[in-house]
This record gives sequence, C-alpha cells and structure tokens, in this order.
Amino acid sequence: MQNPKIYTNQEIESSIKRRDYGSALKLLFTEQLKSWQQLSSAYTALTNIKTKSFRINNFKVKVQFNPNRFKSTSAKTDLESIKARECFLCVKNLPAEQLGINYHDKFIFLCNPFPIFPEHFTVSSILHQQQQLKKNFKDFLNLAKDVSAHYSVIYNGPLCGASAPDHLHFQAGSKKFLPVEDDIQQLKNESGKIIYDDELLIFSAIDDGTRKIILFESSDEKKLSTCFNKFYDVYKSFNNKEDEPLFNLVSFFDDEAGWSIVIFLRSRHRPERYFREDDQKLLVSPAAIDLGGVLITPREKDFDKMNSNIISEIFTEVSLSKETFQLLIEKLKKEFI
Ligand SMILES: [Zn+2]
Repeated sequence: MQNPKIYTNQEIESSIKRRDYGSALKLLFTEQLKSWQQLSSAYTALTNIKTKSFRINNFKVKVQFNPNRFKSTSAKTDLESIKARECFLCVKNLPAEQLGINYHDKFIFLCNPFPIFPEHFTVSSILHQQQQLKKNFKDFLNLAKDVSAHYSVIYNGPLCGASAPDHLHFQAGSKKFLPVEDDIQQLKNESGKIIYDDELLIFSAIDDGTRKIILFESSDEKKLSTCFNKFYDVYKSFNNKEDEPLFNLVSFFDDEAGWSIVIFLRSRHRPERYFREDDQKLLVSPAAIDLGGVLITPREKDFDKMNSNIISEIFTEVSLSKETFQLLIEKLKKEFI
C-alpha cells in the first residue's frame, strides 16, 4: 500500500529516475513551504537570525543564534527520557501537513521544521530502529551521492548528538553551507597526516588544534566501505567498546573527486559549560553541524558571549583527546599497512 505521507508528481518521478534526488528534494521543499505554515514561519525566522564568524587556527566557525533549536539543543536523550516520549520520527507521529519523498522504501525525506541550513531535510528510516552507522554505511554513501546536486549529508551518533537515538536517521542540507567543506583540504595539508593512500583512496587524520578528524576520500564505494569498517573496529576498541563509538560525520560527493567523508571523533556528548548553573553556563550541544563550523546557540545571551576562545574550549573538550588520537593513528597505521 502506498504510504499516505509520500508526496510525488511527474517532475519528482523523472528526477528520481535520473537518480537525482537533490532536484526531487528541491521540489518537495517548494511544495512544503506553500502547504505547511509551521515550515514557512520557521524559514522566515531563519532568514532574519543573527550570525557572527570567527577564524580559529586555520578554519572558520560561524555562530548562529537560532531560538528555534532550543528544544533539540536541550533534548534529553538518555534511555529513560527516550522511552517516555512518542517518537517524533515515526511516520504515524508526523504533523498532518508534513509530506515526504520515498527513498527505496527504506527511508523518507522530510523537510526539517527546525532548520539550520537554508534548506534542511531529515532522512528518516521507515522502520523504528536504532540509530547506527556501521550496518547502514552503504545507505549513507548512496544518499550522499544521490542528493549531491544540491545537498551534503550528515550523521550524528546515538550518544553524541542524534536527537532521536532510537530512530535511524540522517540529515541533508544545502551544499557548502558548512565551512568544513571549504576548509578540509587546507586542514589536511596544514594539520593532517596520511594514514593510508593508494590509487583508490586517501585516508588521513587531522588535528587542527581543537577537533580530531578522520578524512576518507575515494570514488570507490566498495573500497570506502571496507576501509570505513576497518577504521570503525579499531576506533571502537579505543572509544566506547559497548555501543557505537562517538562520532559525527559530514559527507559530500563530487562527480570528479567522489566522496569526502569527514569524521569528527568525540570524547563526550556535551561540554562542561552545558551543565553549569551559574553565569558560565552555555546552552550548546555540539554535533555534526556545529563541529562542521556552524555553532548553534538557541539563547541570545550565549550568542553574545561566544568568542573564539570559548569555541576552541568547547571543540577541544568534546573531541577525542590529543593523546588518544595519537595512539589511534599509530594503531590505524599498523592495521592499514
Ligand atoms: Zn520512531
């Protein structure tokens, strides 16, 4: 039976036939702006919000004051709180006006009613199942390729940023909006080390003074999956042996260069300042978008306070430690010989 939440028309169908989901998403976005009041209000608000930019070492961070993100930034994602709420990504709980595009009967593309990107989508699993990357990595790669005409794709681990850790989902957002997409080559050249390199794939590790980044570049899907799995297993032995190790991913695809997979390695979910009860408190909860260079502050007072020292402090604190990163690189080099 056709899912009643699926929106389609001839133009969308022909984009999908060309495997150009990027253009199909643009059409969904235009339709939903017309038919869904909450969405159009959210985007009107987004065009009027304040931002400010900083350079930290050799990369750029934009701070975005986005009051609409208050709920997701302060969301309780512990097991008990998750069990106590209705899952907002399950199709049966979606707002009446919300429609989506089918993706291989496995995912549904939805417009995100709490946008950060100029065009922001959630790519939600049709089934209610645990957020987990390893067994869904192939979907993650295909998705990045299929939407690449207009969008990049992100993934937040269940323990470090996913607001629904119990429901598998990715996000897609306007290409080149995240500064890391422009900065990554320079970061690799100035602060990176090559771990492994052959004609099919480059695998490097970057410590930019705050963030600890793993970068895969390849046009070969099979090779990329094999190397990611190998990396995953080694990283897991260093970071959270029980569940998925802590990471956030940003992926973008280019017809010539193939995939760039940027993996931010994490030590913790939220910085110490998040839990403070005095004037040092900052309501920030970094995930892929923040570490990708767009730091979200839902409260204006936090936006006003934010400066490059505080951003460095937060990024360093939530990232893997320098020492562990070094040990990880050594282990990976041995594994990848
Ligand atoms: Zn669900």
